Amino acid sequence: MPRMRAVQVKHANGPFELVEREVPTPAAGQVLIKVQACGVCHSDAFTKLGAFPGINYPRVPGHEVVGVIDKVGERVTNWEPGQRVGVGWHGGHCGHCPSCRRGDFITCANGQIPGISYDGGYADYMIAPFEALAAIPDDLQAAEAAPLLCAGITTYNALRNSGIRAGDTVAVLGIGGLGHLGVQFAAKMGCRTVAIARGADKRPLALELGAHHYFDSTTQDVAAELNKLGGARVILSTVTSSQAMSAVLGGLAVDGKMIVVGAAPDPIEVSPLLLIGGRRAIQGWPSGTSADSEETLAFSALANIRPMIETMPLERAAEAYERMMSGAARFRMVITTGQ
Ligand SMILES: [Zn+2]
Ligand SMILES: [Zn+2]
Repeated sequence: MPRMRAVQVKHANGPFELVEREVPTPAAGQVLIKVQACGVCHSDAFTKLGAFPGINYPRVPGHEVVGVIDKVGERVTNWEPGQRVGVGWHGGHCGHCPSCRRGDFITCANGQIPGISYDGGYADYMIAPFEALAAIPDDLQAAEAAPLLCAGITTYNALRNSGIRAGDTVAVLGIGGLGHLGVQFAAKMGCRTVAIARGADKRPLALELGAHHYFDSTTQDVAAELNKLGGARVILSTVTSSQAMSAVLGGLAVDGKMIVVGAAPDPIEVSPLLLIGGRRAIQGWPSGTSADSEETLAFSALANIRPMIETMPLERAAEAYERMMSGAARFRMVITTGQ
C-alpha cells in the first residue's frame, strides 16, 4: 500500500506528531484528494485542545484544503481525477435533519467538519465527501486559495448576505486573518469601507487593502467617528474580544447590524435602547457551503483579492500553528506539501 505523511494530534491537548500512514481509499460518495496546501485556522485549536464535543483521536486537523482529485469512489459522477478542488469548514451534511430538508446545509444538525469530524488537510492526502468540494479557478495558486476556504468565505458570505448595497458604509473590526480579507471584499463590493484596529501602524496596510477610512481604537472614539460618516450599515466583527465589539456598537446606523464572525468566549454588552430605537441588530454568520466557497474563490479571482500568507512545509505544521496562535502571522499561515 502507498504511504503518506500526516500531522496528527494524538489526544486532546497532545502535541502534533508527524506520522506515516497508508493512503486511504475513497468509499462511495467520497474522493481522495492529493493535498497541495492547507491553511492554518484559529479553529484548528478545537482539534488541538479537544474543545469540540465528540472529537475522536488521533485526528489530523485542517479545514482550508486545496489539492487535486486523485481518485473518486463509486457514485461520484460530477468530479474526476486531475480536477483542482478545495474543502472548507463545511465538510458534509446529513440530508435528513430539518435544516437539510430546507436546503440550509450549513446549519445541518449533523454537519461534518474536516479536521474535526474526520481527518483534514495537514497531510499528503485526505478523503472528503463530494458535497464538500469546491472547484478552484485556474488563476489562484493552491497556497493563496487555501485561506479563502474559511477566512475568505466567512467574511465574503457574511457581507454579501447582509443586505448591503454599493455605497453603504461597512466597517471591519480587526485587521487580522479574517479582517484583512473582509476589508478587501467590502471595498471591492463597492462599499465605503472603514477599517478599525488597534494602533496607528496598521493604517497604511488597511488603506492598501482598499479601506477608505482607518480608525485607531486605542486613540479614537470609533463609534463617534462612524457616526460622523452617518453610521455603519454593517460592522463586520472579526476580533476575538467582546469588549472591543461592545465599544463600537454605538456606531451602527439606523437598521445597521453587527455581524459577528470572530469567536470570543465572553458576552457582548449592548444597550437594549440602542437596538430598539434604530432597529439595530447583532447577528452571527457561519461560513457557507461548497457552492459559497466556489463563489468566494471566483469573486477573489475576478476582483484580484488575495490573502496575505506565510507558508511552511508540512513537517513544520506545529510551528505554523504556534505562529498563528501567537498572533505573529501576517496574516494566514499555510502548510504546503510540495506536491
Ligand atoms: Zn477556519
Ligand atoms: Zn443535516
